[in-house]
Amino acid sequence: MSSDSALYLRRRAQREIRLVEPNQGGRLRVVLAYPNTYAVGMSNLGMHTLYRLFNDHPDVCCERSFLPDKHEIEEYQRRGTPLMTVESQRPVSDADVIAFSASFENDYVNVVRMLILANLPTRNAERDATHPIVIMGGATVSINPEPVAPFIDLCCVGEGEGLVRPLIESILGQANSKKTGNSCGQLTDSDLPTRAALLQSLAASPGFYVPSLYEPRYDQAETSDYPTFAGLTPQDGAPPCVTKVRAVFEGPETVASTSILTPETEFGDRAMIEVARGCTKGCRYCWVGYNILPFRVHKVDDVLAAAERWLPTTQRVGLVATALLDHPDIEAIASSLRERGLQVFSPSLIISTLREPLLRCVVESGQRSITIAPEAGSDRMRELIMKKITNEEILEKTRMIFRAGVLNLKNYVIIGLPGETEADLQDLVSLCTAMREIMIEESRDRGRIGTITLSVNCLIPKPATPFQWAKQIRPSEYAAKLRWLRRSLAKVPNVVIEAMSPRSAEIQALTSRGDRRVGDLLELWAETGSWRQAVRTWEERGGSVDHFAFRALKPNDPLPWGHLRTGASSAALGNQWNKAVGGNVDAAA
Ligand code: SF4
Repeated sequence: MSSDSALYLRRRAQREIRLVEPNQGGRLRVVLAYPNTYAVGMSNLGMHTLYRLFNDHPDVCCERSFLPDKHEIEEYQRRGTPLMTVESQRPVSDADVIAFSASFENDYVNVVRMLILANLPTRNAERDATHPIVIMGGATVSINPEPVAPFIDLCCVGEGEGLVRPLIESILGQANSKKTGNSCGQLTDSDLPTRAALLQSLAASPGFYVPSLYEPRYDQAETSDYPTFAGLTPQDGAPPCVTKVRAVFEGPETVASTSILTPETEFGDRAMIEVARGCTKGCRYCWVGYNILPFRVHKVDDVLAAAERWLPTTQRVGLVATALLDHPDIEAIASSLRERGLQVFSPSLIISTLREPLLRCVVESGQRSITIAPEAGSDRMRELIMKKITNEEILEKTRMIFRAGVLNLKNYVIIGLPGETEADLQDLVSLCTAMREIMIEESRDRGRIGTITLSVNCLIPKPATPFQWAKQIRPSEYAAKLRWLRRSLAKVPNVVIEAMSPRSAEIQALTSRGDRRVGDLLELWAETGSWRQAVRTWEERGGSVDHFAFRALKPNDPLPWGHLRTGASSAALGNQWNKAVGGNVDAAA
């Protein structure tokens, strides 16, 4: 295929340094698709891990495809060029399997966009044996796959390490029982098991969810014009619940790490190595705390072996974990890497466990910015979300951070928490101002003052967390709180605010909490390119943003994600929700 777009991809591939290469003789052609741009996708550790897992199989040739950059999309559309892979610039639609990996619900629309760009029917019901099987994995699918259920043939619920092998074996196993591929090594249509037979057999295994085997039911509630979700009815022997599959950490090959270095990502010269997965803290709004269970760590030697694979290509290693400092040997890992002459980075750290030795290690490596997540400005609010740290302790840690030589401090905070008042926001302003004073005091001798950043997010009451029953504040209320915060901090020097936009908050609420009917909205958005126009048309046809995004749920309401078993039980989540709102669920809503 020769076009400007193909040339662009070829040059991109030439700039990459790879530890993993696709086996071009592999019988099963898989396209690993990331529903965002190349720069975003190649910064995602899950994408690197899946690329290695697929290509580790001798019968698989796995290449990658991404949503083209803005200027590229116009070129694709103008010339009618089909979406291609990075490695060989072959059309994505030629693959046997397209495997999407999505980490953010806001990327759901890009799944539909990429299917359109690949010249494939978007709906699973419209595809047949002449089309690739469309699969989706990644955290979002384990959170709530229903908004993309109309487009996906098979959802992989859980961790890729435990799902890729059984998936490949199922496809190839059934193919092998028929015959063994054509002379080019690639499977022919008649080699592959029929789509229906394959999906039905996978649906019986843990971790595989086939949306077309579940019929949604809706009830017309007395209090609302919009039918409420009433559950999913399994068809053709599909199980009522889908249980997540977890990875086992054993040996260096099970350490998730960078497979490809590319100068097009922010940390393009840094090998990212996962040291632990999950978190023991249980903050009530956080999906990780209630679903990535149990907390697992990699052994020191396995982490070191994974890092050494990148020597001498790069001397820079990023240690990745949501709860890095909960690894009992994290200091040993960091100092062993330093002894090997490597620079060690870890941009995001949990503040309650922050310790000086690791801080010193990253500062000596040249890291100048640290991100923490106090999440709220008042001790009261932090207690409600179960973030166990006080303002006094946060300020002590702030001093430790700047005293260690850090220049900039970024703070993740959430607004729109249940029961939040103006006083809580005022406390956030005071906390930020106090952090800035500490930064000035500790930086004076160095002669260089950095920045305190408040990175503000709107609370999205995520599925399978204690806050799943809460309602989200409306975009206008969120925008007003943001304006107040900006005004209050406008005169404080060296403090900047970055914020999730009200529109993004609305989109995330719909895509996190929606059922299959939100799929129609995603399709309209992908086709028109305009969110507002898509919402208008969808609501004219009977859809309701309010119903999904800004409505509190009752404890016994059937939930669109209720058929997934990913972590803590519903009873345990309900218990935490009751504790958060003091048993007064209605008041919190
Ligand atoms: S500390 Fe972070 S990762 Fe852990 S539960 Fe809280 S928010 Fe989630």
